[in-house]
Amino acid sequence: MRDVRVTVLGSAQDGGVPQPGCSRECCLRVRANDALRRHPVSLGIVGSDGSTHLIEASRAMGEQFEIWHSVDPMEGPLSSLSVTHAHLGHVDGLGLFGKEVMGASHLTMHCSQSVADLIENNPIWRALREQGVIVPNVWSSGEAFEPSPGCGFRIRPIPVPHRDELSDNHALLIEANGGNLLFMPDHDSWAETLGEASIREWLATLEVDIALLDGTFWDEQELPHRDMSEVPHPTVTESLERLGERETEDPDIRFIHLNHTNPLCNPDSSEVAELAASGWALASEGDSFTLERL
Ligand SMILES: [Zn+2]
Ligand SMILES: [Zn+2]
Ligand SMILES: [Zn+2]
Repeated sequence: MRDVRVTVLGSAQDGGVPQPGCSRECCLRVRANDALRRHPVSLGIVGSDGSTHLIEASRAMGEQFEIWHSVDPMEGPLSSLSVTHAHLGHVDGLGLFGKEVMGASHLTMHCSQSVADLIENNPIWRALREQGVIVPNVWSSGEAFEPSPGCGFRIRPIPVPHRDELSDNHALLIEANGGNLLFMPDHDSWAETLGEASIREWLATLEVDIALLDGTFWDEQELPHRDMSEVPHPTVTESLERLGERETEDPDIRFIHLNHTNPLCNPDSSEVAELAASGWALASEGDSFTLERL
C-alpha cells in the first residue's frame, strides 16, 4: 500500500494558454516558449491501491497523461473520472474515451445529477453511455464518496455557485488521512461561496491543507472589451485582499485556472513577484502532493 498522490495536470482556464485566436502579447509570448504553455485544469490521483482517478475530462488529456506518467508511471485503464461542471474545458475531452481513441470500457464517471442529465440530453455523450464507454454515477452533493473501492481516499463534492446555464458546479475536496486537498477551479464570487465566513475560516472548517483556487483573472482591467460582470470569477487581487499575507499555520494555497490574459502567466511580471511576496503560490503542471491514505 502506498500513499495517495495528487498531480496537477492542467492549470489554465478552459481556453488553455495560449488561447486559440489570440494574437496579442499574452499568447505570442507563450507560443515562443513551450515551457509557458498551460492546459485546461485537471488533476490525476493515484490511490493507495494503485488505482488511477482523473478529475475533469479536458481535450488536452493526451499531453496531460504524459505529465501524469512522468510523475507516476501508470498501468492499466483509468479507475474513475470525476467532473465538477459542464463548461467547455472540463468536459470537452469526454469523446477521447470513445472507440476512436481510448476505447474505455465502463469507466465510472462521478458527477452531479445535472451533469448526468446533460449527458443524456447530448446525443454524442449519450452514445458514449449507451456503448458502455462511460457509466455516469451520480453523487449526493456534500457527501464524500470513494471513487473506487479501497482507493484510500474520498472525494467530497461541495456545491459552489457558478453560472449554471448548463449544469450546477461543485468544488471537490480530496480527503485522505494525512491531509485534505481542495480543488476549486471555478466559482462566481467569494461573497456567494462563503457567505459571512472568511476564506481562512471556510478552509479551516473543511480541514483543508492544500487549496487549488480559482485564479482566472488577476484584476478587473483584464478584459477591456467585455463586461466583467458577465464573466464572473473572483479576481486574484480580491482573493489576496481577503487573505492578506500567508501565516505559518495557513494552508498551502495555489491559484489555478488562469486565463490567457492573466499576467500570472508571465513569469517575469510584477504580479508574479507580488503573489510570491504575499507568500501564496501559483499552481504548475506537474506539481504533486502526497496524502497519507485513509
Ligand atoms: Zn472552467
Ligand atoms: Zn492571449
Ligand atoms: Zn466554468
